[in-house]
Amino acid sequence: MSNSTKYVFVTGGVTSSLGKGIISASLAKLLQARGYSITIQKLDPYINIDPGTLNPYEHGECFVTDDGAETDLDLGHYERFLNVPTSQANNVTTGKIYQSVIEKERRGDFLGKTVQVIPHITDEIKERIQILGNKGVYDIVITEIGGTVGDIESLPYIEAVRQMKWEFEQDCIVVHLTLVPYLAAAGELKTKPTQHSVKQLLEMGVQPDILCCRTEHELDLTLRRKIAKFCNVNMNAVIESRDAESIYDVPLLMQAEELDKVVLEKLGLPTKLTPDLGSWKEFLDRLKNPEFQVTIGLVGKYVELKDSYKSISESLIHAGVANKTKVIVRWIHSEKVTKENLDESMEGLDGILVAPGFGSRGISGKIDAVRYARENKVPFFGICLGMQCAVVEFARNVLNLKEAHTTEISDRCKDPVIDIMAEQKEISEMGGTMRLGSYQCQLTPGSNISEAYHIDKISERHRHRYEFNNNYLEQFENSGMKATGKNPETGLVEVVEIKDHPWFVGTQFHPEYKSTVAKPHPLFTAFISAVLKNSK
Ligand code: GLN
Repeated sequence: MSNSTKYVFVTGGVTSSLGKGIISASLAKLLQARGYSITIQKLDPYINIDPGTLNPYEHGECFVTDDGAETDLDLGHYERFLNVPTSQANNVTTGKIYQSVIEKERRGDFLGKTVQVIPHITDEIKERIQILGNKGVYDIVITEIGGTVGDIESLPYIEAVRQMKWEFEQDCIVVHLTLVPYLAAAGELKTKPTQHSVKQLLEMGVQPDILCCRTEHELDLTLRRKIAKFCNVNMNAVIESRDAESIYDVPLLMQAEELDKVVLEKLGLPTKLTPDLGSWKEFLDRLKNPEFQVTIGLVGKYVELKDSYKSISESLIHAGVANKTKVIVRWIHSEKVTKENLDESMEGLDGILVAPGFGSRGISGKIDAVRYARENKVPFFGICLGMQCAVVEFARNVLNLKEAHTTEISDRCKDPVIDIMAEQKEISEMGGTMRLGSYQCQLTPGSNISEAYHIDKISERHRHRYEFNNNYLEQFENSGMKATGKNPETGLVEVVEIKDHPWFVGTQFHPEYKSTVAKPHPLFTAFISAVLKNSK
């Protein structure tokens, strides 16, 4: 049987954290640069329906798509590399697979049959993989399988890959990412873990077509030959994947190893067109040769695990490149910021960014950080909870509403300047029930934000339950905090700004989800530009 869309499966062996997401995104970038239409999908073997209910310490940031999916942070890499939006279909978990099969069983769709992992769960997995392929939009779908080969949880996924390889022999290949560790005592790179992980795949009936070998040292010809021979792959399909200075170097490293060419050959697709990576190289050149340098304080409560703020830190890198500036991030734990150590904690910062978040832990440190930025005229950017903290701080210290708060933290406070949205009041379930995904926002001409975007109507992604309480709007505006962005239908305040300040912007939406290498986000770019201007 033939299928017009081609499928590339990316699996991982030996250990987790080898960077399957970056390899998938880099391969996709190279194929896209040759003119192919590509999407990348992540299959996650955990039982949560989505990562929306996961603590960031468990799994890093929760990425949000335009259509409101709460997804794995790898989707952020896919979008940043490809500059193409992902959607609900791009992230599937075991929870979603089982939920759907069980719903079908309850509807009676299986006509009295016993419902089993094979074929019912594997069929559902195969269907989810092909949803993207069947759209008729993509030449190639890259499907990254989360976890490590050999995990009990990922067995049904590997079985689904085996079946698809069997059914669509000409159209499916497997790229297996492994580790070739360096043993200092022996002074050697070791291939045995790679051999073992390929054996494990073979036991499950899957022969990988290409091996990407993560290594800290050069993989010489002897090693490549050895790996090829023991793992039944061609010599040119043993790809060295060396540690890189920046994740944005990886597409070029993979190009040097001809990963894209080998993939296309194995899929029977033409390799004639050379990839056009001109603008990517320009980005890298600017990244590596900055003219200026600034330090931004990122105030949040999950700073021990930097992956919790992945999209924000990548957006700062993109905005730095747009401004020929190296952006150094100082990670500031909001729980450790107090009134007493405020000056010390914020010393030397050129700009302050207060991060999104949930719950009371670390909130007073965030509010104090806003106060410092406002009073000392340090450029300030507040995102979601960061914007809400800016509103609470202004209410307390400028409007003199000393008991002002968000009802998320203090549900009976005297001045609920941030309050739960009406449509959220009756919701008791946690998963997927926030205000999620893209909504439009009308900007006030002449504001910092409209100057950043150069247009007056924008669309940005959301993930929140609380909002600015419009009963207080007049009071805020009369005292200098303006609502410069609103949802045109509901009047929900999306953006607040202070005029008498070098740059003070808070957004209810999350601009960080839309910054890419090809299109650094205008708001982050404007923030860094204001920081530069202010620090000169
Ligand atoms: N906890 C806040 C709310 O739900 C902010 C959410 C966020 O920062 N993403 O409105």
